[in-house]
Amino acid sequence: MSLYIENFIHEARISEILEKNKRAETSRIREVLAKAREMKGLETEEVAVLTGISDPVLLQELFDTANYLKETIYGRRLVIFAPLYISNLCANECLYCAFRATNKGIVRKSLTQEEITHEVENLVSQGHKRILLVAGESYPKEGLEYVLKAIRTVYSVKTEHGEIRRVNVNLAPLETDDFRKLKAEGIGTYQIFQETYHRATYGNMHVGGKKKNYDYRVTAPHRAMEAGIDDIGIGVLFGLFDYRFELLALMQHIRALEADYGVGPHTISVPRLEPATGSDIASHPPHAVSDIDFRKLVAILRLAVPYTGIIMSTRETAQMRRDTFALGVSQISAGSRTNPGGYTHETEEDEASQFSLGDHRSLDEVIRDVASMGYIPSFCTACYRLGRTGRDFMDLAKPGDIKLHCDPNALSTFREYLRNFASPETRAIGNQLIADAIAGMTGIARQRAEKLVSRVDEGRDDVYC
Ligand code: SAM
Ligand code: SF4
Repeated sequence: MSLYIENFIHEARISEILEKNKRAETSRIREVLAKAREMKGLETEEVAVLTGISDPVLLQELFDTANYLKETIYGRRLVIFAPLYISNLCANECLYCAFRATNKGIVRKSLTQEEITHEVENLVSQGHKRILLVAGESYPKEGLEYVLKAIRTVYSVKTEHGEIRRVNVNLAPLETDDFRKLKAEGIGTYQIFQETYHRATYGNMHVGGKKKNYDYRVTAPHRAMEAGIDDIGIGVLFGLFDYRFELLALMQHIRALEADYGVGPHTISVPRLEPATGSDIASHPPHAVSDIDFRKLVAILRLAVPYTGIIMSTRETAQMRRDTFALGVSQISAGSRTNPGGYTHETEEDEASQFSLGDHRSLDEVIRDVASMGYIPSFCTACYRLGRTGRDFMDLAKPGDIKLHCDPNALSTFREYLRNFASPETRAIGNQLIADAIAGMTGIARQRAEKLVSRVDEGRDDVYC
């Protein structure tokens, strides 16, 4: 096991593979697309072949293949979550982020545990069940204990409207022992984005604080796995460097985790740089990814790692989010605020936010939109609570067995949302969607779905299998 790895991101090799495959023959591209339909994932070289697609006909074939995989593996489900920013203090100097230490343009704020409770009550009253806890890399004087307490606080909030059932976190890298403490608090996924895998660009973008250390960051998922956190989320901040390079580097990172721990990441996030107060780079990305390339990279990821969730945040507009559902996105945030305290107090967006949002709609509006498109919003948290994580999850997911859990659980948690939180319009659309979905199901999945949904209708909450 290579924990302090002799560097598993091989830049020269990536450049070589990209160069060799940049203008692959149409027949070769179709061969890769045909292999992708087997849903066993792709090799790095094959990913490179797909990054070279520019012909609109082949691009459409790529999108169709991604849609086929998405529908076959994930059906029409879309998991819903909200970020919870607890603090915007930060000791680092990431040139693209409003939270960076020397930025005087934002109001600094670390929420007290009481304020965190209010934020959680607000999120719960909207209907959220899953949150992603986020912070800059500098905690109030208690240090990491502040974050651990915050997680405890989130789980402790129980209201008449329910509770948060899964807390994922997006935090700076830790030592293995500290990751153990994080695991002990019952987190779901530990998420960390490398931002860019290109070492020189990484150096130019991170000019102060601990985050300057590329190697310490890129090995964080290894340390987290070492500590027993087996649901890991990785990602790239698209716009900093060539997206083709980043896709191949992501593949190398995934392979390194698979080689050492027998399982790759649970999710991949695909943030694109958004404008941020006090950052020129955020408004003028050095390698801006066009909308069409963005769709392309989501589709390629779907084919490359079919069983890894793809997360799309509210950085993107409602339209881009809609377009990418069909290409493989499996989780979305909704109704988000990126400033600490933003759910309790409406402030001007720029005052304390990390970046500007592309989608400002409320949770109810997003749910209505998603449901009108035939997608089933899922608030399910069953796998993590039943210990179906890491390799156990992948062992169920790969033969397709996980659908026997995910589909019924999506319908029961969606019904619970509709009953407790939805506006009448959203409820009508949602209930029709549930009826249609059950009518289209067969066998065990249908029996389970009918049973779970009827239990919700009898007044029970939190039913899952
Ligand atoms: N501070 C920790 C860190 O940097 O890992 C964790 C939280 S940080 C607030 C979460 C992520 O926000 C970063 O990893 C980065 O990818 C993203 N981010 C920062 N500035 C951004 C911007 N201007 N547009 C889009 N995403 C941004
Ligand atoms: Fe701090 Fe994270 Fe923003 Fe960098 S991305 S300035 S580490 S909050």
